[in-house]
Amino acid sequence: MSEKKKVEIICRACGQETLLIRKPKYEGLRKAGDILSCSGCGHVYEEGGGVPYREASAIRVFDDSDRSETVSVFKEDENRSLCRYCRHYVVNPFTQWCGIHKKEVAATDTCAQFSVRPESTEEDPL
Ligand SMILES: [Zn+2]
Repeated sequence: MSEKKKVEIICRACGQETLLIRKPKYEGLRKAGDILSCSGCGHVYEEGGGVPYREASAIRVFDDSDRSETVSVFKEDENRSLCRYCRHYVVNPFTQWCGIHKKEVAATDTCAQFSVRPESTEEDPL
């Protein structure tokens, strides 16, 4: 592990966009972790605790709001293109059948030729 990646922080001590300096910390001969400090003012941060990473905090904020929305939209889309909501989907006591592909399908299958069944045929014996 020899990553010389520049880690940008917004230093809480000096308030500047600076780089995080990472130096190995030794207890005797054993590496005991890293010393993280601000390249601007030298303020030392606890490892893993509250280092004000610049990118990470920006990404995390974006992720959280984005993720929940994406998930719900995706679920809805997925439901809409399920075979059981398709006009070509035929159910009888023995099989579930796709009228386009002339083959057996499952209610939870999805398909590129999906076409929404009109509301009037909503009553479905399942
Ligand atoms: Zn600083």
